[in-house]
Amino acid sequence: MSELIELSSKIIDSGVVSERTNRITFELSEVAEGLSVVEAFSHIWSVDTGDGLVLVDASGSLSGTRCIDAIREWRQDRVHSIVYTHGHADHVGGSPAIFGDAENRGHESPDVIAHEAVHDRFHRYRETAGWNLAVNSRQFGGTKTAPNFMGVGEGRYIGDDVAVPNITHQSGMDLTVGDAHFELHHANGETDDHTWLWDPARKAVYVGDLFMWNFPNAGNPQKVQRFAGDWATALRAMIAKGPELLLPAHGLPVAGAERVATVLDMAAGALEYLVRETVALMNEGATLDTIIHSVKLPDTYDLPYLVPAYDEPEFVVRNIYRLYGGWWDGDPATLHPAPKAALGAEVSALAGGATALAHRALELVEAGDLAVAAHLVQMAFDAEPTNREVHEIRKEVFTARRAVATSLMAKGIYKSAINLSIEALDE
Ligand SMILES: [Zn+2]
Repeated sequence: MSELIELSSKIIDSGVVSERTNRITFELSEVAEGLSVVEAFSHIWSVDTGDGLVLVDASGSLSGTRCIDAIREWRQDRVHSIVYTHGHADHVGGSPAIFGDAENRGHESPDVIAHEAVHDRFHRYRETAGWNLAVNSRQFGGTKTAPNFMGVGEGRYIGDDVAVPNITHQSGMDLTVGDAHFELHHANGETDDHTWLWDPARKAVYVGDLFMWNFPNAGNPQKVQRFAGDWATALRAMIAKGPELLLPAHGLPVAGAERVATVLDMAAGALEYLVRETVALMNEGATLDTIIHSVKLPDTYDLPYLVPAYDEPEFVVRNIYRLYGGWWDGDPATLHPAPKAALGAEVSALAGGATALAHRALELVEAGDLAVAAHLVQMAFDAEPTNREVHEIRKEVFTARRAVATSLMAKGIYKSAINLSIEALDE
């Protein structure tokens, strides 16, 4: 048994995360005969078909070369096809390295197969490159003056040389290469352009990001609409195939029919719960405020492969609300809101000044009410964006808020807020 499967079995069976599950080692492991993975961000799965390799995903721009080098120590056959599970930069950015390798070896260029919406995604990434750089920078704690994410440089989010799919499908397709056969299925989930693959001979499901050893990234606060309900439907369709191997793009492979069915079922169940509860409250006419403060995931889903370390259930609830309910939160005051500076100035005046309001925020931190503290200090900051004392307190409030945040999404945004106050204090 491969070491990766030994580790994932141990973690799933014990319920204890004893080691990292998302590892970036650039090391190749053979998981079954003719089937390997390079652990990176994201992984590349390779299948030796007897008539060239089929790769599932191409990893990111910074890791493509190291991934293909690792694959080349395993097999020298030409890459016949690359299947993109979706068009996120960490899954397609490494494609130029794979094309470069083919050229150096005198191999024919591989086919690139993906869902048709990958084309629209690449178009959107180019149209909104600045925005995508800004939100990804914030996700990792960056600020406008000190960005922490550069994309591929020169203001581009994805490279002009990223391989564009030459074969696309709408709802699915069959792919036969050498002695390997794959069913490709489209699913809305993390994205609208996801493809998951079923490999009947190996009873393996290549899930892309639809299972990632983290709580499903269906809520991401800074990204386009995601689809929690459809995501669960895709996981159920995978279970129906009877998989014995689950091969994700992030994290460890999972083996064993029962184990695979369990993890897929629990992930689907968690998403279905959030959809059901959110929609039930929406049907009662509840506001977003009521919904996000009442829908809480039961402890049953407190599992080592559903940790809210990347995204979190509350954000997923918001995205379900957005999908069915639009952008308005149900508060009449926010329909045509006042500029934040005006509201902050008014509330600061009532409190005896922005500094007094910020000090009240600090008292609330000490009392443990971090959410209200964050609102108050932001109002003080909106009223007086250059007030040094407000920045000192703002830095402390969001440091406390960040310390209890579980998800990378939340931690990054709070870090970005902290860094902005540090920059203001340095001026
Ligand atoms: Zn990914």
